[in-house]
Amino acid sequence: KRVENVMSIYWSELIRGLDPYVPGEQPRDRQYIKLNTNENPYPPSPAVLEAIREHTNQDLRLYPDPNGDILKAAVADYFQVEKNNVFVGNGSDEVLAFAFISIFKQAKPILYPDISYSFYPVYSKFFEIEAVTVPLTADFQIDLADYPVDNGGIIFPNPNAPTGRILPLEQIEALLQRNTASVVLVDEAYIDFGGVSCIPLIKKYPNLLVAQTLSKSRSLAGLRIGYAVGSAELIEGLERAKNCFNSYTLDRLALVAGAAAMRDRDYFDTTCRAVMATREWVVSALKQLGFEVVPSAANFIFICHQNQSAEELFSELRLRGVLVRYFKQPRIDNHLRVTIGTDREMQELVRQLQAILGSN
Ligand code: PMP
Repeated sequence: KRVENVMSIYWSELIRGLDPYVPGEQPRDRQYIKLNTNENPYPPSPAVLEAIREHTNQDLRLYPDPNGDILKAAVADYFQVEKNNVFVGNGSDEVLAFAFISIFKQAKPILYPDISYSFYPVYSKFFEIEAVTVPLTADFQIDLADYPVDNGGIIFPNPNAPTGRILPLEQIEALLQRNTASVVLVDEAYIDFGGVSCIPLIKKYPNLLVAQTLSKSRSLAGLRIGYAVGSAELIEGLERAKNCFNSYTLDRLALVAGAAAMRDRDYFDTTCRAVMATREWVVSALKQLGFEVVPSAANFIFICHQNQSAEELFSELRLRGVLVRYFKQPRIDNHLRVTIGTDREMQELVRQLQAILGSN
């Protein structure tokens, strides 16, 4: 009762009308095989742990560098761009928030796929940005030819989430050639598991912004580090929004850890290749169990069983200690999204699915 009163009296109309984002569950009641939030099953690079150890000293009493220069330099070096082409934030979610505020608040509506990252509608509503969704094709592909040029901006993940499907670079470039009057934001959270980034295209297209994260391919979800790469003008827009909001970028440990992760290319290559190799055998094993598997270029797969409901499979797996992601949402409520874990975790998933399907 008291909460209701507070809601009606103190909350703004905007907050009262919001549906907050519901992240994947992080239960603590038992030890689960956690395949529900697309974390990397491998630990971060040893160089990351070393950087954190080295910087865990009395300097923590000092504020961090508000520009996050050390991380920007490492990202710029990795992609062979300038530091003023890089914006860094607390996870790519925060980077996307700054992009919505500084770039997408336009007179015309922004466009994004109807089945996509569920934060886009949350941010649109929160920042009061009109949005129009563009349906995926019947086989869950984004068709960029369906995106009219009369828009306030376009955002889509590549590979898409939760489907895992990837668009070839040529199709993104064709969109950029047509769509010159608004920003195209490509959310490449999952690009490192077999995809090709469109970051090199920023030199040719000043309206292209690319967001990436260290949460997935660099095993640092716990530190919250993301960045965007784009023309100096777009990045300047993001910096302005950030400086009006919170003048510090990332904490001291995240900055040095993120930089160390970007520099350790060998470890990054090895762990990404391991995830892709696991994905390959898991896809065949699940197909043998009667699953349809959407082609994936991400560290997760999107699957659907011919004669077993996804919701039931989700609950059965949960009871057996395996967490996957189920979306109670039209068109995809017969699918499960399963993160690629270690080989052992995935063997256990397959074993449990065999048991569940065999007993029906
Ligand atoms: N974009 C997409 C498509 C995602 O799935 C996620 C992870 N939930 C993010 C961005 C954000 O990741 P983070 O904030 O951890 O960088």
